[in-house]
Amino acid sequence: MTSIGLDHVVMRYDGTRAAVDDVSLEIEEGEFFVLVGPSGCGKSTLLRLLAGLERPSSGAVRIDGSDVTALTPRLRDVAMVFQNYAIYPHMTVAGNLGYGLKVRGVPKREAATRVREVADLLGLGDLLGRRPATLSGGQLQRVAMGRAIARRPRAYLMDEPLSNLDAKLRVTMRAELEQLHRRLGVTTVYVTHDQVEAMTLGSRAAVLRAGVLQQVAAPQELYARPANAFVAAFIGSPPMNFALGTVRPDGLDLAGFGLRLPAARRPPAGVGERVLVGIRPEELREPRAAGAAACALRVTCAVRQNLGADRLLFFAAPAAPGEAAAIARATFAEDRPAGPAGAGGERLLCARVPADMPVESGDTVDLAVRPEALHYFDPADGARLPDGAR
Ligand code: ADP
Repeated sequence: MTSIGLDHVVMRYDGTRAAVDDVSLEIEEGEFFVLVGPSGCGKSTLLRLLAGLERPSSGAVRIDGSDVTALTPRLRDVAMVFQNYAIYPHMTVAGNLGYGLKVRGVPKREAATRVREVADLLGLGDLLGRRPATLSGGQLQRVAMGRAIARRPRAYLMDEPLSNLDAKLRVTMRAELEQLHRRLGVTTVYVTHDQVEAMTLGSRAAVLRAGVLQQVAAPQELYARPANAFVAAFIGSPPMNFALGTVRPDGLDLAGFGLRLPAARRPPAGVGERVLVGIRPEELREPRAAGAAACALRVTCAVRQNLGADRLLFFAAPAAPGEAAAIARATFAEDRPAGPAGAGGERLLCARVPADMPVESGDTVDLAVRPEALHYFDPADGARLPDGAR
């Protein structure tokens, strides 16, 4: 079992902007750890630093407590799995699975046994004689994984290994990966830009933005208590709604609504001050599902989208002065696609409701939000406001 540590790691490719900026992390033995963030945030660089494919500008990488910063990839004994399989087309499946063993001088009989074991583990037993060109995307990805597993490395480093697969196969392969990890218990670091993978795969995930660690936590914690508005906006689909609220003596003025809140649920700010408020679409509910303490909101549905089990309702809500700029600043909106706009270009908020809620575009509907479902952030820098004051 292997632990991995990063101590104040900085990586500057060109001597100016840091691709990885003072990252410290502890990945525990046997953990399935996800690195997640938008494209260009430094995930792959971090993985390559762990693998030894890059040397940090400063800081240290540890494996099992030993400083490996100066060691080559081979001496670190970790296996990388990439999205573009890196499978040798001229070799059979068996040849590919056994390649890492051959170059490391593992005796032939032992290598053959290990290849057989890995093939059985991954359901590749009947394909050992086949050439890669005759395999499906999912099978190729299994061969790439199998090659890493056969080597029995100290850790797996996976860089978006499923991103070339179609959506259905990705779901299946995610479940397979999780089972495989449970069976093998090998420390795994998994890079993805897909917040769904971060939510479903890891025991913990680190969210990165522009090379800087934003939050390291269990997926459910990232969802329930995001450390800042960037994490709040990045994790969750459809994304969290944001609006600039003004504190009132008994609650909040928010997006044209007056919300009365119990003292313990009011924002930790003075009356008249502004706070950035986040509400997840699934927390804008039918009144009967939100409970007696919920705040009522009457809205007009501008757009209705059916998703099957659920439907999304988009409704226009008046914006406070300077709101769009404040939200963009606090959530670093340039890193994400913009949400939908109404016919007049106005901002739309999103509610996710059950498919049996009767509503058509143009209808006026009653929604409700539980006071404890409101997330509060500092409009200046997006930091989560402490719950202690609530
Ligand atoms: P991610 O994996 O999150 O998409 P990367 O680690 O690939 O991000 O890149 C982080 C930043 O470092 C980006 O700004 C990218 O342009 C830059 N970068 C990555 N690799 C190199 C390289 N070999 N030389 C110079 N800049 C690089």
